[in-house]
Amino acid sequence: MDTIRAARNQRRAFADAELWAILTAPDDVTSATLARQLGCNEHSVRVARARLRREGWTCRVAYRPCRHCGALLTARGSRAGQAAYHPACRRRALADMDRRHERVRWDRMSDEERLARIDRAHRHTEAKQAETQPGAINRGSRWDPSDDARLMAEDAPPDYVLAKELGRSLHAVRGRKQRLRGTT
Ligand SMILES: [Zn+2]
Repeated sequence: MDTIRAARNQRRAFADAELWAILTAPDDVTSATLARQLGCNEHSVRVARARLRREGWTCRVAYRPCRHCGALLTARGSRAGQAAYHPACRRRALADMDRRHERVRWDRMSDEERLARIDRAHRHTEAKQAETQPGAINRGSRWDPSDDARLMAEDAPPDYVLAKELGRSLHAVRGRKQRLRGTT
């Protein structure tokens, strides 16, 4: 019984397009039918429908500054933290946080721990360099703009994966990235 109630109470948060579909559905379309179409439970539809009938098409929209870049963003809904960042900014903010945590960890390490880590990183690089070298069929050829875009993409995989994907060695990928960032 409790599980039935829990399932019933598990309400779906609808996207605007779905709410619009619920709002504009003719009265003779049952909530059950809508629920099937939207792939959710009937209870969610009933609640949304009742609210839409009561309040009409209201959409809680707020504008607030993005916590990463400070530019305004549209914050929809009321779930806390739902839209504190632009989607791209969120990834950058998380990466920044990782770097900060990493920095703090590093500062707390002993010299031995730091040396061990550097050593591990070197060995990892060497191993991945050896692994990517045989497949580096594009060695010496020009990097085309789409390769560059791939290297610098927000969601780019690790360097050695990029290397395999682009037919380059790990060192070549890292060198190219440094050039693109203007750090060499
Ligand atoms: Zn932003």
